[in-house]
Amino acid sequence: MRYSAYSIFKQAFSGNRLWTPAWREPQPKTHYDVIIIGGGGHGLSTAYYLAKEFGITNVAVLEKGYIGSGNVGRNTTIIRSNYLLEGNNPFYELSLQLWEGLEKDFNYNAMVSQRGIVTLFHSDSQRDDYARRGNGMRMHGVDAELLDREQVRRMMPYLNFDHARFPILGGLYQKRGGTVRHDAVAWGYARGADQRGVDVIQHCEVTGIRRENGVVVGVETTKGFIGCSKLALAAAGNTTTVGRMADLDLPIETHVLQAFVSEGLKPVIDHVITYGAGHFYISQSDKGGLVFGAGLDFYSSYAQRGNLQTVEHTMEEGVTMIPGLSRAKVLRAWAGVMDMSMDGSPIIDRTPIDNLYLNCGWCYGGFKATPASGFCFAHLIARNEPHHVARFMRLDRFERGYMIDEAGKGPQPNLH
Ligand SMILES: Cc1cc2nc3c(=O)[nH]c(=O)nc-3n(C[C@H](O)[C@H](O)[C@H](O)COP(=O)(O)OP(=O)(O)OC[C@H]3O[C@@H](n4cnc5c(N)ncnc54)[C@H](O)[C@@H]3O)c2cc1C
Repeated sequence: MRYSAYSIFKQAFSGNRLWTPAWREPQPKTHYDVIIIGGGGHGLSTAYYLAKEFGITNVAVLEKGYIGSGNVGRNTTIIRSNYLLEGNNPFYELSLQLWEGLEKDFNYNAMVSQRGIVTLFHSDSQRDDYARRGNGMRMHGVDAELLDREQVRRMMPYLNFDHARFPILGGLYQKRGGTVRHDAVAWGYARGADQRGVDVIQHCEVTGIRRENGVVVGVETTKGFIGCSKLALAAAGNTTTVGRMADLDLPIETHVLQAFVSEGLKPVIDHVITYGAGHFYISQSDKGGLVFGAGLDFYSSYAQRGNLQTVEHTMEEGVTMIPGLSRAKVLRAWAGVMDMSMDGSPIIDRTPIDNLYLNCGWCYGGFKATPASGFCFAHLIARNEPHHVARFMRLDRFERGYMIDEAGKGPQPNLH
């Protein structure tokens, strides 16, 4: 079924009884050309592009919970491509370009909203740093603008300019950044993949990876053994546990990240704003809730829930930046488990096992990467060679000493 204004009109006259399910609920086949572990944004987009761009349709996505139950449905929905390093910038820019055409491409309303993102700076040295980043972006053909204090004040008069411990001096503005309705992304990719013949199998946990003569032949699951010619890992926060099933010791630590949403308010924040003096980011959803978050919980965990001390810290940062926030009530909080890599950048690569492919290390920035990650991972699986924008995202870069340390924080995963 194709979604269109006409289909909405037609359904309205039939009492909305003719809508069909967005994807099937298939039983697993005995063998697939490609199995993808993880029905998050990255696993589903990989399946979608494998089918659409490379004609590989005998594919299964195995998801232990339901589609969207992982980080793809838990993030704060921010998209941007304001990266400095060559290993990152072209990749995230490809992602932003794919976001720009995504809804047409997969015929689904993902509520892509390019409302602009402003990263605030609070000192002269930080201004220099952001000017450098902005110039780097522009040299890659990416839009960037350095705003002074008065320009930021005109755009966001509700920020605390004058009485803060770290007064706002300006901001780095990327107009094309913004937000996307996160779980709609999972649903849109699932539907698009399903329409092209991919089996999206929910409530099917992978419990083991079977190898014969050093090659993966399939996976043990809660629905029985399923054979495959190629196996792709896209398990995000569970990467290390799934990797261990194939005796892979990966340069990943899993950490908790929380997010919050306030009660619905009238429109007040019409951009995405990031606080430069700490780590706090906020936007307003179309329902009116202020959606915000801060840093990690600072201990490793696989639990999808966080600690009170981080809640307090997040609120403090928020109120420092926007004093009016103290009047809003927080409605909900939740957490996700982040696959933090040692240099803060992702891995899209083959593994030492020939037919086993790896997609991980998204830290807390992998939502914006969803389209490019799926596109490049599908390219790697189909052609056995990296896509050129993901050519630096190799697993062996840690051995070779070629880090992509965007934040300059060294091998300390919880600081990236
Ligand atoms: C609170 C929070 C805020 C964030 N904010 C942003 C943001 O604003 N912008 C941004 O770019 N990024 C953000 N992120 C990061 C982003 O959400 C993640 O990097 C990205 O979603 C990870 O990829 P994914 O969607 O494939 O992960 P997931 O949705 O977690 O997918 C992995 C899937 O694998 C499944 N799985 C695991 N093990 C198995 C198994 N053994 N068998 C079968 N299935 C398995 C899991 O159930 C899960 O559904 C945020 C994350 C969180 C938690």
